[in-house]
Amino acid sequence: MRTAPLPVDLLGLIGNTPMVKVTQLDTGPCELFLKLENHNPGGSIKDRIGLSMITAAEKSGQLGPHQMHLVEATAGNTGLGLALVAAQKGYRLTLVIPDKMSQEKVLHLKALGAEVVMTRSDVEKGHPDYYQDMAERISRELGAFYVNQFANPANPLAHETTTGPEIAAQLDNRLDAMVCGVGSGGTIAGLSRYFAKAIPGCEMVLADPAGSVLADYVKTGTMGKAGSWVVEGIGEDFLPPNADLSRVKKAYSIPDVESLETARMLLKKAGILGGSSTGTLLAAALRYCREQTTPKRVCTLVCDSGNKYLSKMFNEFWMADQGFLPRQAHGDLRDVIT
Ligand code: PMP
Repeated sequence: MRTAPLPVDLLGLIGNTPMVKVTQLDTGPCELFLKLENHNPGGSIKDRIGLSMITAAEKSGQLGPHQMHLVEATAGNTGLGLALVAAQKGYRLTLVIPDKMSQEKVLHLKALGAEVVMTRSDVEKGHPDYYQDMAERISRELGAFYVNQFANPANPLAHETTTGPEIAAQLDNRLDAMVCGVGSGGTIAGLSRYFAKAIPGCEMVLADPAGSVLADYVKTGTMGKAGSWVVEGIGEDFLPPNADLSRVKKAYSIPDVESLETARMLLKKAGILGGSSTGTLLAAALRYCREQTTPKRVCTLVCDSGNKYLSKMFNEFWMADQGFLPRQAHGDLRDVIT
């Protein structure tokens, strides 16, 4: 017996992702909930904004028969969200991606028909090879629409109007803390705005990769010099216009090794295959939970699927090469493979 009409296409399956309670990990006195954004059709939370930013640009007249070409700067997932929509609507899509991002994401984007321009990961905002500066320049040169998730208001709005209400409904409006990362800042800004109205007592907590400038900014109000990190999709060397951190009072800076170990542990103990940023968010959420002296209800996100990182963080050889796991002695390789 069918209770609801079937969605007419894949875009109707974006959002309304499931929520699970984590019972397999030490959460101190707290209950910890994970919203599984990897269940979106493109495999990440960024499907939501791929759809919302294209829909908003169509409504405002920035996209349409006169403008069928989009350009975006992305760690990969926003590109996938845009590519899902672009493929169905016949838009041309050019994506500028820093070269540290996983091969799986790049191959997936190319297979979806996107044009991918790879650029350096080791330069900061203001450098002509920096991915955002390059995307903006390419869009100007080609007369295309620059989507710009870092400043586009349809990005936080998608989380304010979909992700936030879904979390509140799934947790019966009983939530003490929400742990988020920042890439473009859309998730944390949109959820902050929604919870300010719907669950005002909910504390917003930042999970930041060590090397990013944002955790220090939350703690001290000043921004130091950025380092580098391997976690993909979160952490910044500047404050994106969309990253409204005004309601964020607590921040954790998580080293790469802790992020990757935590994501690997989530798979081994709970069977949930999340990506590298999920590891950062979960590591921060676990630290927060274990610091509490009274029971709290805490939520964080599985931002994307670990399928996108099988050749990296779920590959023991890559982990050892990067120094995140001890290198196996020669002759022990079968222990690594089995
Ligand atoms: N996790 C992953 C894997 C991402 O790709 C992104 C976005 N680049 C985020 C988290 C961060 O989300 P937001 O852009 O909304 O800050």
